[in-house]
Amino acid sequence: MSEEAALIVKRRKIANVFKGEPWVYPNAVIGGPDEACLVRVITEEDEFIGWADYNPKAPVPAKILLRREIWPGDQLFISVFLENAITRRLRLGMSVQGGAYRLVNSEGDGLPGLVIDQFGHTLVIDILSVGMLKRLETIQGVLKQMLDDSIQVVRFAEDAAKREGCDPILIEDDTTIRFSENGVYYEVPMSKSQKTGFYLDQRENRRLVAQYASERTVLDLFSYQGGFSLSALAGGAVDALAVDSSQEALNMALSHAERNSLELGIYQADAFEFFDNIEQKYDMIICDPPKLSPRKANKEKALSAYRYLIKNCLKSLHDNGLLLVCSCSQNIQHEDLRQVLIQQANKLNQTLDVIAMTNQPPDHPWPLAFETSRYLSSILVELRLVS
Ligand code: SAH
Repeated sequence: MSEEAALIVKRRKIANVFKGEPWVYPNAVIGGPDEACLVRVITEEDEFIGWADYNPKAPVPAKILLRREIWPGDQLFISVFLENAITRRLRLGMSVQGGAYRLVNSEGDGLPGLVIDQFGHTLVIDILSVGMLKRLETIQGVLKQMLDDSIQVVRFAEDAAKREGCDPILIEDDTTIRFSENGVYYEVPMSKSQKTGFYLDQRENRRLVAQYASERTVLDLFSYQGGFSLSALAGGAVDALAVDSSQEALNMALSHAERNSLELGIYQADAFEFFDNIEQKYDMIICDPPKLSPRKANKEKALSAYRYLIKNCLKSLHDNGLLLVCSCSQNIQHEDLRQVLIQQANKLNQTLDVIAMTNQPPDHPWPLAFETSRYLSSILVELRLVS
């Protein structure tokens, strides 16, 4: 397949692309190659739109990479965009020294289908599209040149492969990532981890929690490896309980706690059943569920899950207690969370004050015109002492 393969699209179905979004939806496609490849996207009137990674089997068949007429070649394209992504992080003061950051955030860095997280000296390259899979060698070569002393780990996970209509590549990896975040040191074996190893998008929320944790008792729901509860303990919390359905995640949380000489409680449970058995109240609760509304069609169901969780969290808060509620579904944003909080607080005759509303941190940028990649919304509220 030559680089000149064309994807013909209906002009009136790509208003979103003209607005600045990189995704071309199936209803816009008139015709294209049979196999996944780089394409020149043109309208039926032969108007040039851009260069895109095309995969006829994927739910979003084309993602725009570049809007200028000449394709510079994979090598130059990857070099320029990777260098820009890395320089951006350096300008943000994110350094290589033992910290953990997202170096490349897919569409937000102009590289749809590619995520790279840096954990100390290890780069976890998360491939999300066939197009980027084909460029893997180029990506690895450029990274080697730019960050020459780093170790590279590659993922092409089952869910991504399924979405792209191809076989997953099972990569047996016994690499352990080592890094510090908010003063807590972590060692995470890749073989036991979710996603790229750690949810870096919550780094600044974990810092916020650490800042407010002093002298408080903390409940960390959907804790994964205890990032929030460990940050709280490091910030002076009296005690912290991490609750997750995954025993493996909790075991790792415990080993992080031991390594940092912190005392963490763990409890394996379905968070939706956890409240059935507790009487206790907490000074601070973090509620960070997985994506509850992956599609718009699930939104109502997800909102009712939030209603249940928020009601029980509010009931379990001491006066002046803090509740951090997070959503990593693009469909559930601040306003949705705010409405659920208002409704549930009113039912309980409580008054809540907003301490912070946050989105994903600056190493997870998103294109201004492309809200789909603004996915993380969180609200930190305080229960007013007297209302
Ligand atoms: N707060 C974490 C990230 C949470 S990711 C951090 O800062 O790193 C979501 C977590 O929810 C995962 O660890 C997953 O195992 C857990 N989970 C999913 N469904 C659950 C359920 N019904 N009850 C409890 N935990 C659940």
